[in-house]
Amino acid sequence: MGRADRLARAVRDHPPVIAARAGHRCRAGAHSYLADGRVVCWVLPEPESPHDRPLAHAVDAELALQPVPPGIDARWRLAGIPTRGRFWELWCATEILAKLADVPMVLLARRAPVTCSPVVGPRVEIHHVVTRVGEVVVAHGLAWATTSEAGPAQA
Ligand SMILES: [Zn+2]
Repeated sequence: MGRADRLARAVRDHPPVIAARAGHRCRAGAHSYLADGRVVCWVLPEPESPHDRPLAHAVDAELALQPVPPGIDARWRLAGIPTRGRFWELWCATEILAKLADVPMVLLARRAPVTCSPVVGPRVEIHHVVTRVGEVVVAHGLAWATTSEAGPAQA
């Protein structure tokens, strides 16, 4: 099974939990905090073999109906990226790269958003998938060590 399929299966088998932030206690999950006080928690299932274990996992979530930051939206549209109706999907996907590649989001947001998966860097490749849980946009990401035959660096 390829890495994109492993990610899709992990999201399908272990969908994120959205709960009140107060009182949520867990150590295994990756977390993202919504503007309304809830937390999104994604626990990665154990891989079938230790070989398949990613280096790290991350989740990022936003309320789909909250206003978009106009400056970033304008910049991304100027860069040729259609953002209408999907700004927060692009935002969350870019946040996944920020979290897993350890690059500040302000730097990434100044450029163009992440629009494809995986993003392949010299050491890690980062796969993401975006889902919608009611009014919450959720991006899930996994980082793996870059395979030797991977293409040129993008991250
Ligand atoms: Zn949790």
